[in-house]
Amino acid sequence: MNPASLAGSPSFYRGRFAPSPTGPLHFGSLVAALGSYLDARASGGEWLVRIEDVDEPRTVPAAADGILRTLEGFGFEWDGEVLVQSRRLDHYHAALVRLQLDGDVYPCACSRSEIAAATSRKSVDGGLLYPGTCRAGLAEGKAARAWRLRVPDREFSFVDRIQGESRQNLEREVGDFVLLRADGQYAYQLAVVVDDAAQGVSAVVRGVDLLDSTARQIWLQQRLGVATPSYAHLPVVVNAVGEKLSKQTKAAAVDSAGGSAVLAAALQFLGHPVPAELHRAPVADLWNWAISAWSIGRVPAVRGIFPGGEVL
Ligand code: GLU
Repeated sequence: MNPASLAGSPSFYRGRFAPSPTGPLHFGSLVAALGSYLDARASGGEWLVRIEDVDEPRTVPAAADGILRTLEGFGFEWDGEVLVQSRRLDHYHAALVRLQLDGDVYPCACSRSEIAAATSRKSVDGGLLYPGTCRAGLAEGKAARAWRLRVPDREFSFVDRIQGESRQNLEREVGDFVLLRADGQYAYQLAVVVDDAAQGVSAVVRGVDLLDSTARQIWLQQRLGVATPSYAHLPVVVNAVGEKLSKQTKAAAVDSAGGSAVLAAALQFLGHPVPAELHRAPVADLWNWAISAWSIGRVPAVRGIFPGGEVL
């Protein structure tokens, strides 16, 4: 695979699915895999899988293998090798060094409690909006804990292929954000931007919970001088009380033995009801139908859907 040679071509499509191996594949992550896969295949493009295990404390041993086996069991076929973030720390380091040399990042000495003492303003993520304490340099006697990216006081706007126009002022809504954490781990925001660029990803299709991260990623792409892919944010599966299905909300693992019926439920969720006769058909028949039926315009432009009380 040579991303650089193809990624520059305006019509070339390369998508990806980038699960964090924090537990087994559940219905919510199956929906994200399916949306990104069908959008790539329906465009005649490539589809990559990347294991996002950069957050070591959250990584569950063997979860990555389980996710890959489940995807295979459903008949997903990825292109090239699976990229594993924990093997790419030198690339994240190189990107951080570049940002350091350009003065785009600064060391931060603040602990969580110091930030909480300095501000009560919330960021879009629900955490505290960093008040900029270390922006102009570390106070006497303070040691660096983390590295933060400076963000501008201007509005970023981009057109999401599903959710429409999205706007965010990074300084007012997010604040200078961490790229290297106090525990020595590289942040998701840095790893995802470095890897999407390194892999020549041209189209990102993922859950809407990451819509609010997109302006941060676009800003980081601009600081690193790499291309910005197109973005499409799928609705996420929520439970009866509106929480996103995740390991934290005890989402059940999906079993590829469920085959076409499970894929049909995921397609229904994405606005593509599957003809009844395909629910029990071999998965190959369902894939043929789904790749030709896929149209991103049919995906509901909403943030969360509770799938009608069905047991999934
Ligand atoms: N690893 C992230 C997750 O599992 C997805 C990252 C992305 O698609 O940009 O939520």
